[in-house]
Amino acid sequence: MSRPELRCRFCRSALTTSFVDLGMSPLCQTHITGEQLQELERFYPLHAHVCDQCFLVQLQEFVAPDEIFSEYAYFSSYSTSWVEHCGRYAAMMRERFALGPHSRVMEVASNDGYLLQHFVAAGVPVLGIEPAANVARVAVERGVPTTVQFLGEASGRAIAAEHGHADVVAGNNVLAHVPDINDFVAGMRELLAPQGVITMEFPHLLRLIEGNQFDTIYHEHFSYLSFTTVEQVFAAHGLVLFDVEELPTHGGSIRIFARHAADAAQAVGPRVAAMRERELAEGFRSRERYLGFGEQVRETKRGLLAFLIEAKRQGKKIVGYGAPGKGNTLLNYCGIRSDFLDFTVDANPYKQGKYTPGTHIPILAPEAIREARPDYVLILPWNLKDEIVAQVGYIREWGGRFVVPIPAVQVIAP
Ligand SMILES: [Zn+2]
Repeated sequence: MSRPELRCRFCRSALTTSFVDLGMSPLCQTHITGEQLQELERFYPLHAHVCDQCFLVQLQEFVAPDEIFSEYAYFSSYSTSWVEHCGRYAAMMRERFALGPHSRVMEVASNDGYLLQHFVAAGVPVLGIEPAANVARVAVERGVPTTVQFLGEASGRAIAAEHGHADVVAGNNVLAHVPDINDFVAGMRELLAPQGVITMEFPHLLRLIEGNQFDTIYHEHFSYLSFTTVEQVFAAHGLVLFDVEELPTHGGSIRIFARHAADAAQAVGPRVAAMRERELAEGFRSRERYLGFGEQVRETKRGLLAFLIEAKRQGKKIVGYGAPGKGNTLLNYCGIRSDFLDFTVDANPYKQGKYTPGTHIPILAPEAIREARPDYVLILPWNLKDEIVAQVGYIREWGGRFVVPIPAVQVIAP
């Protein structure tokens, strides 16, 4: 039987070039309960391809987004460093674009209101757009008006008709998570006032490859974005990128600033050309650049397993920290179960008492580390490494050490 032909979600070209094949994996947010341990679990192929025409790195869509996102376990406010990052963003935007009581800020995938709350506090009117009803409810309770829906061209037009157009449309870590990127970007254009500004933050593909961040590939994360590919996608919908910033978040992200092509009020800044040239110089517009990544990933797996096997042979006790989406890719791809990790911990009570998808490692409250006195704590959300090392530094009391798996195994004494 031949495989069905795969098509690029942006330009519809045939997808024939493999970026990395991570085998079969369950959905990363489907933490399972004790009863579900006895049941059949669904696994889907986790195989990223790169488009030879537009160089969008992407996963196929196996599951309808409403199945993934309508009851989402990720509450943005559980990460303090992330909430602080968003506070700085809100202050910068108010200053740079002179936002005030006359303005309107909308956020797509506004989650529990972690970002918009900063604008509310400054007296700037806001509207959140969030598909997961359970997290939207939390936002409304904290005073962030939120409409429960997915953004697309039609819903964007309807929201603008009901609430007015937006002076700012913000979106953090959502562009990569939408299966229909064309409909989504068209939806943002529909929301945007004639002189409005779109900002989007997303992990930078350049940093994913450089930093070996293969564990940021999971089913809920459909696209892996370079600046030049995003520029192409926005241009196809009448939007121009006029500025770009690099950010340390999520292992290295970029924040783009976009406007209507017809709005000449915002000149295209020099950082746009600089970023474009850098990606060209790095080879991101040629297929060859993408071909070595699979072997880079396999070598990382061998290195991590070698470390864990040796530690277990020496009788060491190892636990995890965190149960993020990226942890589930790492654990499933490497085959790390409770044979290596006694348990993992997570500050999110929604995950505590459950088990990691596929690998069935118990998820406990962070206090469990103090009781267990492990030799090693494997940090799964390595992008929050500094925050975690500071919070859990007490493992030095019994000589415990941290292990960071990405870009390659590194042992850190607290
Ligand atoms: Zn394409």
